[in-house]
Formats: sequence, C-alpha cells, structure tokens
Amino acid sequence: MAETIFTKIINREIPADIIFEDDDVLAFNDISPQAPTHFLVIPKKPIATINDIQPQDAELIGKMYLAAATLAKQKGFSESGYRAVMNCNPDGGQTVYHIHLHVLAGKPMGWPPYQDRMKQELP
Ligand code: AMP
Repeated sequence: MAETIFTKIINREIPADIIFEDDDVLAFNDISPQAPTHFLVIPKKPIATINDIQPQDAELIGKMYLAAATLAKQKGFSESGYRAVMNCNPDGGQTVYHIHLHVLAGKPMGWPPYQDRMKQELP
C-alpha cells in the first residue's frame, strides 16, 4: 500500500503529539480535534482499510481497543464515556488510508451521525 502520513509519524519523519506507544500501536492527538479530547490509535503495521484486516491481525486490532481503553482510564473519561470509531472508505469518511481508531470524549456524542443529512434528504 502507498505510504501515508501516519507511517511518517511512526517513523518520526513528521512530528505528532504522541500519547502512547508500544511495540504494536501508537496513539497521538488528532491535529484537527472534533471533541474536547480527540486522539487516534493506529497499528504500526500499515493496513489501508477495515476491509484489508486479515484473520492474523485480530490480536493487533484488539490491542488498538485495549490502548484506547487504557488511555480513557488514564485520562479520566472511561466512566463518563467516549466514542471509538473507525471510518472506512469514502462513505465512511476515511481520508487517511492507514486504519486508525478515533477516540472522542469530553462531551456527549450525537447519534446517528447522518441524522441531519437524512432530515434534509427525506421528503
Ligand atoms: P479519517 O478521516 O477517518 O481518515 O481520519 C483521519 C484523521 O487524521 C483526521 O481526523 C485528521 O484530522 C487526522 N490527521 C491527519 N493528519 C494528521 C497529523 N499529521 N497529525 C494528527 N492527526 C492527523
């Protein structure tokens, strides 16, 4: 797959506000936060989209969620709650083709995400 900006962050070729790292995953604050807290958890292994996840990646995907939950606890919002979401391809809103878990917290999240658009489109 083509190298993305996230590979450059993993390789420290461009800066990022890194908040967690181990052998398998990296977490850093989103450059354009959509909530009071908004960070991304990425695997160090480049996987373009959810569709490209292989059975042998199952443990790695679990580690992404474990990192998200650990950080949520450390930052004090595990009980108040948060949104952990992965976008896939254009209709999912994906812009960087290296899978990443968005973790958003600090305010109540709206649901469903397409509600406003649906209201406009419905007769
Ligand atoms: P998505 O649209 O789901 O692919 O999400 C990509 C996310 O990456 C967006 O929320 C961007 O704000 C974020 N992003 C892009 N470049 C950077 C960067 N250099 N550092 C931190 N976050 C970034």
